[in-house]
Amino acid sequence: MLRLPAFDFQPARSVEHAVALLAVHGNDALPVAGGTDLYANMKLGLFAPRLVVGLRSLAELRRISFDSQHGLRIGALCSLDAVARDSAVMSHYPALARAAEMVGTPEIRNMGTIGGNLCLETRCNYYNQSAEWRKAMGHCLKRDGDICRVAVHSPTCKAINASDTAPVMHAYDARIALVGPQGERSVAVRDFYNNDGARANVKRADEILTEIALPAPANGTRSTYRKLRLRNAFDFPLVGVAVTVATDADGLCTQARVVLNAVGSSPLVVDAAGSLLLGTHLGGEITADAAEEVFKAGKPLENANAGLLYRKRMLRVLAQRALEDVTRPLR
Ligand SMILES: Cc1cc2nc3c(=O)[nH]c(=O)nc-3n(C[C@H](O)[C@H](O)[C@H](O)COP(=O)(O)OP(=O)(O)OC[C@H]3O[C@@H](n4cnc5c(N)ncnc54)[C@H](O)[C@@H]3O)c2cc1C
Ligand code: SF4
Repeated sequence: MLRLPAFDFQPARSVEHAVALLAVHGNDALPVAGGTDLYANMKLGLFAPRLVVGLRSLAELRRISFDSQHGLRIGALCSLDAVARDSAVMSHYPALARAAEMVGTPEIRNMGTIGGNLCLETRCNYYNQSAEWRKAMGHCLKRDGDICRVAVHSPTCKAINASDTAPVMHAYDARIALVGPQGERSVAVRDFYNNDGARANVKRADEILTEIALPAPANGTRSTYRKLRLRNAFDFPLVGVAVTVATDADGLCTQARVVLNAVGSSPLVVDAAGSLLLGTHLGGEITADAAEEVFKAGKPLENANAGLLYRKRMLRVLAQRALEDVTRPLR
């Protein structure tokens, strides 16, 4: 049985208290929200913080609010289940509700938070293994080694961003609030992720993600998220496709974003697919052409629980289905 290593735990009394603890303890401390990712990684020996700073006590980060002018604000400590069931999320941001309700199992969605999901550690079959397994195989760039075992000539780690909500937040043009010792800064989700699996995002070690803000949806906006996984009741995405589109009164597409996950260390925007859709009446051949662009853009590697050719082919299928979701007549 894998056991947690010994560590001290301190619940934060406030955001400022959490930030102060992280600032004082530097790389010896890590924040924890639901713990569904961090504790699993600690059991594998991937992280061994001396201090874990608990964020669950921060009730002020567990609120969701919406108004039609300013859009949606979600506290980082909201559970994925709360996000998936929120009435404003369901009616105005259906792709987010869909992505949140597709994460893991009901237990994971009750414990796991939206902030933790966006800060999810990148994943790789060579890395998310026990310490003994990794030692026997030989270490890799991401930790203790000097080569990538998936792409041997790559100077950077190619572990994948497998967060279900990250591509959706990207497609909605969401922004993240980060609070650190110097105060608060706002970062667009499109700038939050590094395309480097060993340094997944731009959040500093002494910063806490406090809130996510989504702009109010333009008139005629439709959105969806499609995910491929081995077991529909349980698993991380093998690939995923988020789509947002807006149409004018004549049904012409005025805005389109297609964002993929699990094909790289950050969500991947397929500009070529979005540009094809702009100014068109969605549906028919244009959908197939846009799905083809997604197929060309997505380049999965051999580091998830299914072969890369299957994952690549399924990108086209998922993109086609996602584009059909947003063009289907509303009931
Ligand atoms: C069996 C299983 C299945 C899963 N399936 C999926 C899946 O299908 N899709 C998916 O996306 N994920 C999946 N996960 C991963 C994980 O459960 C979720 O991503 C969850 O949302 C993580 O949230 P958490 O609050 O538990 O994060 P934690 O484990 O608490 O934290 C995760 C990381 O984020 C950091 N962190 C957390 N909150 C903050 C914050 N507010 N500010 C700064 N840093 C923070 C932590 O330090 C840690 O590095 C699965 C996990 C398991 C165990
Ligand atoms: S992608 Fe390469 S460097 Fe990164 S975790 Fe996997 S094997 Fe290691």
